Amino acid sequence: MNRNDGIRDDRALRGRDRPTVGNGPDAARRVRFSGGNDFQAALQRRVDEFLGHTGIRTRDCPQMYVKTGVILLSFAVLYALLVFVASAWYTALPLAVMLGLVTAEIGFNIMHDGGHGAYSARPWINRLMVMSLDMIGASSYLWRWKHGIFHHTYPNVTGQDPDIELGVLGRLAPQQPRRMHHRWQQWYIWPLYGVLGLKWHAFDDFHDVLIGHIAGRRFPRPRGRDLAVFVGGKILFFGLVFGLPLLLHPLWVVAVLYGVWVFVLGMALSVVFQLAHCVEEAEFPLPNAETLRLERPWAVHQVETAVDFLRTSRVACWLLGGLNFQIEHHLFPRICHVHYPALAKLVEDTSREFGVRYHVHRSIWAALASHFRWLRAMGAPA
Ligand SMILES: [Zn+2]
Repeated sequence: MNRNDGIRDDRALRGRDRPTVGNGPDAARRVRFSGGNDFQAALQRRVDEFLGHTGIRTRDCPQMYVKTGVILLSFAVLYALLVFVASAWYTALPLAVMLGLVTAEIGFNIMHDGGHGAYSARPWINRLMVMSLDMIGASSYLWRWKHGIFHHTYPNVTGQDPDIELGVLGRLAPQQPRRMHHRWQQWYIWPLYGVLGLKWHAFDDFHDVLIGHIAGRRFPRPRGRDLAVFVGGKILFFGLVFGLPLLLHPLWVVAVLYGVWVFVLGMALSVVFQLAHCVEEAEFPLPNAETLRLERPWAVHQVETAVDFLRTSRVACWLLGGLNFQIEHHLFPRICHVHYPALAKLVEDTSREFGVRYHVHRSIWAALASHFRWLRAMGAPA
């Protein structure tokens, strides 16, 4: 097994990459985990044995390269049909919906594996793959901080994990303030998920780079190559979405189809994330206010703050880029997602043996219902 397959990507926590606590006097201090690492060591040993026994290649998997080709080709064909061929609303609308779904596929599969270094052993291939996120409208540099470092280090920890922050729009964790309108959030939040994609394109990246914070967490502004990718990505994205189409179609047509595309994209990305972390069975721990220590060891925290869903569906695993195996993904972010189904039983058995809560939703409906109930509970009057 390659040492980079280790269940903790400590390289992300060194030097300037180290997450700190806000901007106040505690800014140089880090939230830490507690307890022994017996569970983590047992998991590591068993996965090492499994990979050694089966000879599985953890990155540069042929099926991943084929999958990338299929998704990018689908994206190019749908984009070309929408921009150059479709001339009636009844062809353009379904094409925009399908393009939204295929764009989500780029996010779930190509950029996500690339961003975690799980795509290839060659860093330049991972960098190339994660840049597909810039092409679809969000900065891969900011994603690395927001998702790769802040979310993956402290999932479901209020104040540390930007992925559970919806601001005043929704309350996803018990430690967040409750507002009157949250009592209806289990109903109104669904269409809002679709609008989050638009917010990401039009506001979030520019705002975060200008102020140097992501949801209250400091990060270094992009410089050099990172800045070039940020600016180049925005030019490419706005050129693809507005520049080229506006040469051929009226503004209102481009605006409506962009709206449909980004709504489908935002909905798909948000719902898949929420089903993996914001459900009744997931934990939302807080560090001790004095010591800044979380109660549980790192690996236990990762298992108990995520929930797998729809594990037996090969179609779901292919489409969702292994994000329905969120527990395995958090433990092994540097192993290509095509291997998560093979690791899941081993992780589940080891979790049960060590008394670590491991939860799976067998169907998509069970996962959706659990997210609905969690939203209802978080929005209910105290
Ligand atoms: Zn991830």
